[in-house]
Amino acid sequence: MSRLVMKFGGTSVANVDRIKNVARHVKREVEAGHQVAVVVSAMSGKTNELVAWCKEAAGLYEQAEYDTVVASGEQVTSGLLAIVLNSMGIKARSWQGWQIPILTDSAHAVARIADIPSANLDAAFAEGQVAVISGFQGIHEATGRITTLGRGGSDTSAVAIAAAIKAERCDIYTDVDGVYTTDPRIVPKARRLDKVGFEEMLEMASLGSKVLQVRSVELSMIHGVRTYVRSSFDNPDQPQLGTLICDEEEIVEKQVVTGIAFSKDEAQVSIRSVADKPGVAAAIFGPLADANINVDMIVQNVSSDGATTDITFTCPGADLERAQKVLLDVRETIGYTALETASDVVKVSCIGVGMRSHAGVAARAFQALAEKGINIRAITTSEIKFSVLIDAAYTELAARTLHSLYGLDKAG
Ligand code: ADP
Ligand code: ASP
Ligand code: MG
Repeated sequence: MSRLVMKFGGTSVANVDRIKNVARHVKREVEAGHQVAVVVSAMSGKTNELVAWCKEAAGLYEQAEYDTVVASGEQVTSGLLAIVLNSMGIKARSWQGWQIPILTDSAHAVARIADIPSANLDAAFAEGQVAVISGFQGIHEATGRITTLGRGGSDTSAVAIAAAIKAERCDIYTDVDGVYTTDPRIVPKARRLDKVGFEEMLEMASLGSKVLQVRSVELSMIHGVRTYVRSSFDNPDQPQLGTLICDEEEIVEKQVVTGIAFSKDEAQVSIRSVADKPGVAAAIFGPLADANINVDMIVQNVSSDGATTDITFTCPGADLERAQKVLLDVRETIGYTALETASDVVKVSCIGVGMRSHAGVAARAFQALAEKGINIRAITTSEIKFSVLIDAAYTELAARTLHSLYGLDKAG
């Protein structure tokens, strides 16, 4: 019998009515003869509420206790879906991460899956039972403590389980009917893609398209899991397949730019008038790296007087305060005149494997943004993408401008 993993995100299980709708999708696949593992997220908004409660409880808290708290959202939805399925005459039971077990490393709040022994799930399938699994959570075996996989981690649970039980497909059901050229909520002319290559999807996910967690795309690529992104809002009796994440070779229609992503979780730091001499960059970025701050874009101005220069970099918004502290601590060694920060910035990125073979792709974007009066604060490029940092107020205008520029707008 073929096996299937079906994952449902927060809006798809937002209340009991939505969970009943999910059950109809599951029923369809069970009746089609599949052995089904369902992975569920917490109800939408629940994880944010739980995170806020941790912060309210104490400014600084143990990450292991944070995991205990935030993993609870998924426990509720897995139990509720099992209740609904059983009431419809479909044999089902809920599974928490520690019960399967989904074994992870000990990096609380950002844990990585190490192994998923399939024996318990195999036995459940042999009994003709649907396995309803809490996404997002696992267990660190040596300490016996609950872990979570980072925000959006249920996608990763689903793909990892699909690999472990050798499922023929992993369907990620969400509130859009596939992966689009950019976030359809920001750019109404975004087009749904039938297929997206692994590499491009990895870049889109890591540059801010939250439709899939980055790690889930990595696992799908490594284990060759056939992964679709599709809508739980479709009529359960008339299912549409959505977008397949696959090898680049499988894609016929090729564009220079495939997608546009943006990330609002960015902060900019500018260090004014630092000495323009060997070793200064090391003196700045060494301590930031030691403090585990993920520096992304870096711009160093040409020094006009040959003596001093300005250095600008970006880091995740959540790290800004720590970055400032690190730089204040090394102020005497570096000797800058001022430290300026901005957090109302956004990183807009264009992604496409076609950039490998086409020159001047980014230059066209700079021109188009200039014509709209959008100032670029920083730029980075790599083989299949480039990113610009701009004022957050221009996010939509920039995304729409670039979307049209690269011919991505849907017809009509
Ligand atoms: P879930 O709760 O199902 O995991 P998420 O909110 O994590 O859903 O991800 C789905 C959302 O991702 C969509 O509602 C959409 O706004 C956003 N999104 C961002 N970029 C894209 C894209 N390129 N294609 C589709 N959706 C995108
Ligand atoms: N509930 C978790 C979150 O909101 C995991 C997920 O939905 O994928 O991040
Ligand atoms: Mg998600």
